[in-house]
Amino acid sequence: MKITNPATGAVIANVAADNAAAVRRKYEAARAGQSAWAKVPIRKRLDAIAKFRQRIVDKRETLARTLTQEVGKPIRQSRNELNGLLGRIDFFLAESLRALREEKVYADPKQQLDERITHEPLGVIANVSAWNYPYFVGSNVFVPALVAGNAVLYKPSEFATLTGLHIAEMLHEAGVPRDAFVPVVGDGAAGAALTRQPVDGVFFTGSYATGAKIAAAAGRRMIKVQLELGGKDPVYVCEDVDIKATAAGIADGAFYNAGQSCCSVERIYVHESVHDAFVAAFVAEVKGYKMGDPMDEATYIGAIARRPQLDVLKRQVADAKKKGATLLTGGSVVRGKGNWFEPTVFTDVDHSMALMKDESFGPIIGIEAVADDEAAVDLMNDTEYGLTAGVYTHDAKRARKILAQVRAGSVYWNCCDRVSPRLPWSGVGHSGIGLTLSTYGIQTFTRPKAWHLRNV
Ligand code: NAD
Repeated sequence: MKITNPATGAVIANVAADNAAAVRRKYEAARAGQSAWAKVPIRKRLDAIAKFRQRIVDKRETLARTLTQEVGKPIRQSRNELNGLLGRIDFFLAESLRALREEKVYADPKQQLDERITHEPLGVIANVSAWNYPYFVGSNVFVPALVAGNAVLYKPSEFATLTGLHIAEMLHEAGVPRDAFVPVVGDGAAGAALTRQPVDGVFFTGSYATGAKIAAAAGRRMIKVQLELGGKDPVYVCEDVDIKATAAGIADGAFYNAGQSCCSVERIYVHESVHDAFVAAFVAEVKGYKMGDPMDEATYIGAIARRPQLDVLKRQVADAKKKGATLLTGGSVVRGKGNWFEPTVFTDVDHSMALMKDESFGPIIGIEAVADDEAAVDLMNDTEYGLTAGVYTHDAKRARKILAQVRAGSVYWNCCDRVSPRLPWSGVGHSGIGLTLSTYGIQTFTRPKAWHLRNV
């Protein structure tokens, strides 16, 4: 399999992909290794994760450069991802013992009855992952899954393979056995071969289209399936905000990582009384972004990781223009080597346009004026997705009222495009099922076992 730098189109590595027979052998190795790993005391499993964390600290710059070269992410944003990863690992190191300890939920001395819950590992799990934040979306799964005593078959995205192999190497160096964490290399075919194995759970991060296929294939097997899928995340700007600061914050939420975040802001609704001022401030901010060599420290907009996404963006631009939207900046593929798309802002948009309904996953955004909060809520909820949604206002009561009506896994007041390890990360509708992060996101890699104990 060729690994290409999306910023230049140059082939940077060749790796051997796993065919179906190799995937089967890897599954068998993980199945054989799981019970030994589950018997390792949890504190020792946590020690291995702490050593993995140290390996990341030691190799941070090399890892950041590899990530930038294979996904086109600006180098500063690659470093941010690695720094953020350390905080997530710290959360798992601090919380896992508590989340996974045996719970005594009831005691009746008269009947000499005890009721307890233990958290048993699921067994062997498949972790099929996305490329856009490979360290984040991968570690949300494999770190707590390993801590809980599962063996993990980890398939990084074919667009983040080198990063996936770095992760495997560091985990093995840290003491996680090779048959407890097993990388599977390849594209969708390897992913499909992996999810066909008799695993005990499938944990997927990626698009709705792929997630739906995985859920259908797993449905008859009665195994745990968790899907972290896409979004079409809205924000609503009320008339009482500081326009310039709000525009800058939301532009960052829309264009960071060139808009290739599951929780990127993908739609903006603005109270009509401040619409024009907001649009002017927003466009000024976006025009200030430096697009270019992702290795350059000053670059803010990097390359588009997957070439086919350029066609999605072109189609959304053409559709919006045809239906009467006003293009304020950008709108085109940048000619030359690599995959580049100009940061693009539209207004005069509506929900007949793909730009406002379908996930864009690129540096492109529509801004729509709304008359009041009720109209904003209706439009925010007019989507199959439900990952995140935000509101900007000085009025706390108004924010709570709006956010309570919005159908989304995470809601934001005066912030956006944010993930916290302490809070569950989940989606509604086409944004997926299940969750990662928080203590629930540790327990999700276990099966609660109910103990009814009578000491007679
Ligand atoms: P994708 O669906 O194209 O690929 C995801 C993974 O699935 C890859 O590893 C791929 O090789 C594999 N795959 C493809 N076909 C398969 C099949 N038939 N069976 C099994 N595996 C298969 O998604 P992507 O382009 O890697 O990621 C972008 C998408 O991920 C966006 O929609 C984004 O919103 C979403 N995402 C969601 C979250 C979240 O937390 N909710 C986080 C990051 C990305």
